[in-house]
Amino acid sequence: MDWWGYSETRGWVFLDRNIPCNAVGVKNKLLFIECNKERAYFEPWDQWAQPRYIAKNQYLNKLNQTQKEEALNELSKLQENIDLFRELSVYAFYDSCSGKHYNPFSLVESKSGLYTLYSAAWSRKKSEQSHNAHKEFINKTGKAYKGTSKITQAKKHRTTHCYNCQSKLDNSIDLECNACKWIICNCGACGCGWSSNYY
Ligand SMILES: [Zn+2]
Ligand SMILES: [Zn+2]
Repeated sequence: MDWWGYSETRGWVFLDRNIPCNAVGVKNKLLFIECNKERAYFEPWDQWAQPRYIAKNQYLNKLNQTQKEEALNELSKLQENIDLFRELSVYAFYDSCSGKHYNPFSLVESKSGLYTLYSAAWSRKKSEQSHNAHKEFINKTGKAYKGTSKITQAKKHRTTHCYNCQSKLDNSIDLECNACKWIICNCGACGCGWSSNYY
């Protein structure tokens, strides 16, 4: 279920109800997309009311015929970017999650055909985060950074838990370190920082 509306200060906004923080009944912070700027932002739930926000049809009904046509034109152009808006929502939601990162969109699967889109965006974000964490990790070891590669075939890591952060190694991150060929953990750790001291 999607909600489109108009904000006094931001113009057309989009609320993707499949994003967990936007689900019906969750009354914390809502994650909106400011359509013209292609930017995600959070808004306290209780601010989602008139006159700050007006639902699409109510807004259109307040306009005269010419204004209405213009507004509808603008909106239908923006709505062509809906996949991008969903992606931006996933990215912003990912950034707002602290601690363990699990894919929260498995529930969406049964409800809509959007699972692939959400899941791909989630993985992309996760991969990017691990990539950056790995760069930082290598810098701390003082070794040369040789980049990461996508794992082409499933590999077994030598331990089931990360020696660095103790978290369970997540196979959904399909990145390996080019130097040691270990799977890179969410925290960025790979074999380059491992020593027998960890055992
Ligand atoms: Zn780790
Ligand atoms: Zn490595």
